[in-house]
Amino acid sequence: MDMFKEHMNSLSIPYISDEIRSIEKADDHFVLHSFFQKFKAYTVCIATGSERKKLGIPGEEEFAGRGVSYCATCDGPFYKDKVVIVVGGSDSAAKEALFLSQNVKKVYIVYRGEEIRAEPINKKRVYENEKIEIIYKTNIVEIKGDTSVKSVIFDNGKEFDIDGVFIEVGSIPNSDLAKRISVKTDEKDEIIINRKSETNIPGIFAAGDVADAPFKQAITGVAEGVIAAFSAFDYVKE
Ligand SMILES: Cc1cc2nc3c(=O)[nH]c(=O)nc-3n(C[C@H](O)[C@H](O)[C@H](O)COP(=O)(O)OP(=O)(O)OC[C@H]3O[C@@H](n4cnc5c(N)ncnc54)[C@H](O)[C@@H]3O)c2cc1C
Repeated sequence: MDMFKEHMNSLSIPYISDEIRSIEKADDHFVLHSFFQKFKAYTVCIATGSERKKLGIPGEEEFAGRGVSYCATCDGPFYKDKVVIVVGGSDSAAKEALFLSQNVKKVYIVYRGEEIRAEPINKKRVYENEKIEIIYKTNIVEIKGDTSVKSVIFDNGKEFDIDGVFIEVGSIPNSDLAKRISVKTDEKDEIIINRKSETNIPGIFAAGDVADAPFKQAITGVAEGVIAAFSAFDYVKE
């Protein structure tokens, strides 16, 4: 981050740490309001990210990054030949389990419902994958370990030995700011962007996890941000 700030300084781009509370359209520009300040801008790129939903159980926070993960594509390679759990029953949970199964010894999907809610093709792949086993109608109530995760406790009281817990119970895009100025979002509340990172409102762009792009990685978010910057430049020129 320091190097990033240094780079911005060298280009005379101000770095301001503040929270934007609302965006208002005014003639040919936008006014961004924080608690104490106002900023005038001809274009805005909304990159407010998203919040991963948590289980809110003992051990989850304590072992975050030490066996508890919210991103299989990011942390999966650390679990080669290990036994892991994916918590959740959505299509994302199924895809995370399928991804992990390429590398780990065994994946248990722990789901509170009676049937996972994945796309038919992913459901079929999960059912046919010998490394994946589904534990239905079960919740995890505690994650235990020492320096890293060692086991979980199920709501039936059973202790289950495990090396890693991947929590995939959804995420909430921080798109309220955008929605309040009528930026269009999809059914997941993600901001709809096109290949130029444009939203439905001329002059407002979006990038990163808050946008509806299919992959949520640092590099894909940065790419959308770069595209937004080029598009914003074109917009201002016009
Ligand atoms: C556990 C984990 C591990 C990961 N590991 C990797 C990895 O190894 N490689 C990889 O490529 N990706 C990884 N990712 C994904 C990556 O972190 C995200 O895709 C990326 O951070 C998204 O960037 P973003 O800028 O869209 O959102 P964020 O990084 O969430 O940043 C959004 C920022 O906007 C700020 N903000 C929100 N609302 C406002 C407001 N109203 N006013 C001002 N500021 C606001 C927030 O405070 C935050 O600083 C990982 C994700 C997780 C959860």
